[in-house]
Amino acid sequence: MLNFSFQNTTKILFGEGQIKAISKAIPADARILVTYGGGSIKKNGVYDQLTAALSEHTWFEFSGIEPNPSYEQLMKALASIQEHDIDYLLAVGGGSVVDGTKFIAAAALFEGDDPWDFVAAGKPIKRALPLGCILTLPATGSESNTGAVVTRDGNKLPFSSPLVRPLFAVLDPAVTLSLSDRQISNGVVDAFAHTMEQYLTYNVNGKVQDRFAEGLLLTLIEEGPKALNEKTKNDISVRGNIMWAATMALNGLIGAGVPQDWSTHMIAHELTGSHGIDHARTLSIVLPAVMKVCAEAKRDKILQYAERVWNVTEGDETTRIQKAIELTEQFFEKMQVPTRLSHVDLAKTDIDHLIEKLTQHGMVKLGEHRNITPDVSRKILSTAL
Ligand code: NAP
Ligand code: FE
Repeated sequence: MLNFSFQNTTKILFGEGQIKAISKAIPADARILVTYGGGSIKKNGVYDQLTAALSEHTWFEFSGIEPNPSYEQLMKALASIQEHDIDYLLAVGGGSVVDGTKFIAAAALFEGDDPWDFVAAGKPIKRALPLGCILTLPATGSESNTGAVVTRDGNKLPFSSPLVRPLFAVLDPAVTLSLSDRQISNGVVDAFAHTMEQYLTYNVNGKVQDRFAEGLLLTLIEEGPKALNEKTKNDISVRGNIMWAATMALNGLIGAGVPQDWSTHMIAHELTGSHGIDHARTLSIVLPAVMKVCAEAKRDKILQYAERVWNVTEGDETTRIQKAIELTEQFFEKMQVPTRLSHVDLAKTDIDHLIEKLTQHGMVKLGEHRNITPDVSRKILSTAL
């Protein structure tokens, strides 16, 4: 196992009815900006629940944070923060709202000229407003991690700071019942891909991390399709397992002390940045291709994945690896997401631009071995055609 330090300070408030716990989780004298997206929280009762919970608090609201939040929209929140003397943020929504609110938290106290500099130019984040969140879409893990992804002019870029890790996250599986099948699929597939990025690398004998990761993969494979099935989709325990798995997939635990890949995410971000495709639906296209192109470098781990996650033990090594990739694609198909560029109407002629963007964004040494150069990324995208 590699050396690591592990700390996760987000307090998880899990279960039905937990939204009311925010009244105690947020200091009584805080001046809160509640941030949310396009209004789903007004239709599913979450807004009413938080209004009741914050009846003794002073709060204002900022809505309109879009999926794949944009710099332009997020910057508008800064005016509201100044106007109302805000000192606490409450993000209510999916990963986009939580990520966007992380950006706002750091931007509000950024000392440089333009907050985009801590995203694109690596300027340090020295201070940030405290934030908590009510998660409504299990997927990203953003509710208890330090990362966020924001987009400016088609450039979708990540940033990270311990200062933007939410102080608390409410995980009430009941609020996910209003999600469309598409969003449920997206969430399950995103969490699956997060787990794979930290699991499917090379073996450093991180047994605890491996078995946690395998447990998460098995849970998502079992519960994901149930959340799409008419008979089981409203089962709160199915939703709860998916929600907790998605949080655990990217809260730092399974990634501590093991190599990490993230090439799937970095290549996939270009598909969203340039073509607006949902995050998870880019991952389901890129991940199988990464597995195919990097099968040799990932050989031991793919074989372990084949056996422990898919019960594949028959045949020679190459056959077992192929079978594991095939089963992964079949799982994605079951979750109703695309697995080829052609499924989202992209063709060979689109690859040049994607590689250009990757290079422009400095994504030129990806993967756990840092050897996925733009040429290898091109091979991955060609394999995904
Ligand atoms: P999302 O973009 O936050 O939300 C997608 C859609 O789902 C929105 O239209 C939203 O509507 C709707 N929605 C959310 N909760 C709902 C509910 N309970 N009922 C009905 N509709 C609901 O989706 P996401 O997959 O969670 O986040 C994706 C973003 O996170 C991407 O930008 C991705 O790159 C990023 N990401 C971040 C991390 C990280 O570690 N920080 C990791 C992976 C991905 P409203 O707008 O109306 O709420
Ligand atoms: Fe993701």
